[in-house]
Amino acid sequence: MADTLLQPLSGSAPVRRTMERGTFFIQTWGCQMNEEDSEQMGLYLRDLGFRPAESPHQAQLILLNTCSVRRKPEDKAFSFLGELRLLKQARPDMIIGVAGCMAQVRADEIRQRNPHVDFILGTAQVSRLPAVVEEILQTRRFEKRLELPERKGAVVTDIPQRNLERRGKLKAFVPIQYGCDKFCTFCIVPQTRGRERSRPTEHIVQEVRRLVELGTKEVTLLGQTVNSYGKNLAEGRVPFSRLLQILAGIPGLERIRYTSPYPRDFRTDLIETIRDTPQVMEHCHMPLQAGHNDLLKRMRRLYTVESYAAIVDEMRALMPEIGLTTDIIVGFPGETEEEFEGTMEAMRRFRFDGAYMFRYSPRPDTPAADMEQVPPALAAERLNRLIAQQNAISLEKNQACEGREFEVLVEGRSPKNPGMLQGYTRCFRMVHFAGGPELVGQTVAIRAERGRQWGLEGVRA
Ligand code: SF4
Repeated sequence: MADTLLQPLSGSAPVRRTMERGTFFIQTWGCQMNEEDSEQMGLYLRDLGFRPAESPHQAQLILLNTCSVRRKPEDKAFSFLGELRLLKQARPDMIIGVAGCMAQVRADEIRQRNPHVDFILGTAQVSRLPAVVEEILQTRRFEKRLELPERKGAVVTDIPQRNLERRGKLKAFVPIQYGCDKFCTFCIVPQTRGRERSRPTEHIVQEVRRLVELGTKEVTLLGQTVNSYGKNLAEGRVPFSRLLQILAGIPGLERIRYTSPYPRDFRTDLIETIRDTPQVMEHCHMPLQAGHNDLLKRMRRLYTVESYAAIVDEMRALMPEIGLTTDIIVGFPGETEEEFEGTMEAMRRFRFDGAYMFRYSPRPDTPAADMEQVPPALAAERLNRLIAQQNAISLEKNQACEGREFEVLVEGRSPKNPGMLQGYTRCFRMVHFAGGPELVGQTVAIRAERGRQWGLEGVRA
């Protein structure tokens, strides 16, 4: 089986080992999908003969993998590109590339403001990186590849295979679906990543098998609406719950996570599969975004607070230990005090274990950017109120865990507290505890002694 896994599938970038090409540095902003794309691009560059550099100042090739979901990472990317102008003047042979969501939707502006950029690569063009770099090395001409796969209800067959020779690591992200069909009014992703496309099940199985061979024990399946996986496949429809069952059959794979599911597509068959499949962790990060139906309607989220509550109730009835986390946007256009209070109320009702809470950031060319905006100071004040409320709930929920035992996959030393080891429970609580390096990579039983807002402090049980 290992040999067949090493065969490149159609559409894959050829694996080459060539001459030394110098060093590369990739700067990544944004989500796990971007982190994953950066890892893939790093593998392609290694195959071309580049080695990783510690900092951009030493690198012959610098790649910015950008994010457009909020304004701040876009500003950071432009600022970084400005700094690179001087570097390029000093070393004209160096190569500068821009990839990711901002490259997809603002390519012309990037090039206009930064003529020192050598190439721009769209979100669906990651596997073309080797060809683009080779072309630039030979011709020194600017390259731009922005094509997004077409999909108008038809089967998608042009999903490239990924580089499976990844670094061995305990936990790994595995994209299973690209793009999005939902078109929420605040979101730029359908424009930056295109329409929803699922990876063939066999590609995913091959990748996960290979990861397990390389030492991975936990995979996180990635997709913008991960639980709508499986439409438009040449092999026929494969529901997300079926994919989880297939992956759970891979020997050596201990834990499966997934992010982020879309509430409307979260059905009973999936909840039952999570309950009945030991490898699937009892954690669900399901973005609520707002807790008032008028807000949800303006956001074009295709569910109500009540239908969301029905899913939460069903999950907690079948899996009382499940950890639930969410995303919330505060200060969405037109948000009234009453609507915001609805979000506060929903957060008290759902009592999430944790939440990512953001102030709305207008994205050009999205419907919400043209709606009546909430004054920034008011949005900031509301966000602070929401965060304070949620922090108190998270602390209470973690304190309620004191005295209980948890299964923890040990990841290594805590970066914030190097005297302690760090890992996560099955319900996705971070745990710190004392222990030796021999425990890293092991699954151990930990008794929680103290609940903190960020997680648990514990001891070996
Ligand atoms: S579901 Fe909405 S928020 Fe999520 S990626 Fe799609 S359009 Fe964006």
